[in-house]
Amino acid sequence: MQFSDVFVRIRTDLLVISDSIMTDRHHASNGNYEDSDPQNQIGGIIPAFSLSGWLRHGMEKTVQERGGTVCHPGESNANFRKEGVYIRDLDAGYHPKGDCLEDDQTDGCVIHDLFGGFGNQPGKVMRRPIQFSPVRSSVDYTRGQAEGHYRRLNRNIVSRNEEDNREPLRNTELDAVANLDGAWHLSFREVKPEFIGLLAEAIEYLDLHQTDFMHQLGGARNFGGGIVDCELLNPLYEEHELQRVFDRKKGNTNEMDNKKKEWQEEYLDEFTSALSERLEKAHE
Ligand SMILES: [Zn+2]
Repeated sequence: MQFSDVFVRIRTDLLVISDSIMTDRHHASNGNYEDSDPQNQIGGIIPAFSLSGWLRHGMEKTVQERGGTVCHPGESNANFRKEGVYIRDLDAGYHPKGDCLEDDQTDGCVIHDLFGGFGNQPGKVMRRPIQFSPVRSSVDYTRGQAEGHYRRLNRNIVSRNEEDNREPLRNTELDAVANLDGAWHLSFREVKPEFIGLLAEAIEYLDLHQTDFMHQLGGARNFGGGIVDCELLNPLYEEHELQRVFDRKKGNTNEMDNKKKEWQEEYLDEFTSALSERLEKAHE
């Protein structure tokens, strides 16, 4: 089956991923780095870990909304600080991780199949990091890159004690990427039609629920970052068409519009049905 490589367009005004954005500022600045200098040409990497958690959550939700259950992300024998939370999760569309492997379906539930679970079993979808650069002309979208502008944000922690009159206690700095727009590259080690069906639905779900706290990207949500516009880029596009999507000066070609229709009618419907079938089978 084709479609072993697909791209998700990700756009956000501000992304703060706790402290895990890696930058090349030391290298790029020759030791003269100034946070406030607009000439900073700093690029970096958004690690796959946060992106993966965000996508997984969208996929879990998609399966659950269709009445299915998925592997709980935590180990079933873990010492959950709040036993009640785990039990509540099991009632809300999760089964203990790996329970789905106990019947004849060796692949387990679709989430287990995609994300893996035990020891060296890696899962069939490979999530890559996104490399970003502020220099648009050097961004290669067909390699899963993005335009993005590194920012260092200052945050004042003030005293909550009324007599202190909001006296600043300390100052923290956060790494962030502003005005991110790019393509996230996902590769399937093995493609199944239901994987693509689930991916398409999950991305749509995440886009629709982008302002829900639960479905924001990154670890600093209270800070207003992580509201993401996302869409699955048409897997029928050739490289030059994928590049064109990001060119603000150019619209879709007729050929691209035709592919939109072709994707919807000749592929996506079938993939979505495959997902339904798999979820029904898991129920039996
Ligand atoms: Zn499972």
